[in-house]
Amino acid sequence: MKKLAYLIIHCTATPEGKAFVGRDIIRMHTTPPPNGRGWKTPGYSDLILLDGKVENLVPHNDDDFVDPREITNGALGLNAISRHVAYVGGTDKKGRAKNTMNPAQELALHQYVLAMIHNHPDIKVAGHRQFAAKACPSFDTIKWLEAKGIPSKNIHR
Ligand SMILES: [Zn+2]
Repeated sequence: MKKLAYLIIHCTATPEGKAFVGRDIIRMHTTPPPNGRGWKTPGYSDLILLDGKVENLVPHNDDDFVDPREITNGALGLNAISRHVAYVGGTDKKGRAKNTMNPAQELALHQYVLAMIHNHPDIKVAGHRQFAAKACPSFDTIKWLEAKGIPSKNIHR
């Protein structure tokens, strides 16, 4: 069991305004191909819905370790040391990357980040795109965290 090192922010890469919920994302990630990705676990621990509510997909506690049963499949090679959170959205209606966070989602994400830093003072917060050639989460996480006044030591660069 390894120490939690990163909070990695994602989007679901679903079209703006479409009200996907946890069961939809779990189905997309765990259904075998061609209808899903065929993963053993979903890609995120928690999901920020369009109304700003946070839905838990894979249970976790708040200690400093990632238990095997807490691992989710958000970023290759980093899952054993990461918590993954996603907001619902992240593309326009044509599937192009777009920051579609509404005010309720942005507030929820901000509060989620603050709670994670409170519980894990050494954690580094990152966007998925910092680790993979992807647009996810469709915004510049470093700039967003700086604008929210997140301490520099908690921002992965
Ligand atoms: Zn992602």
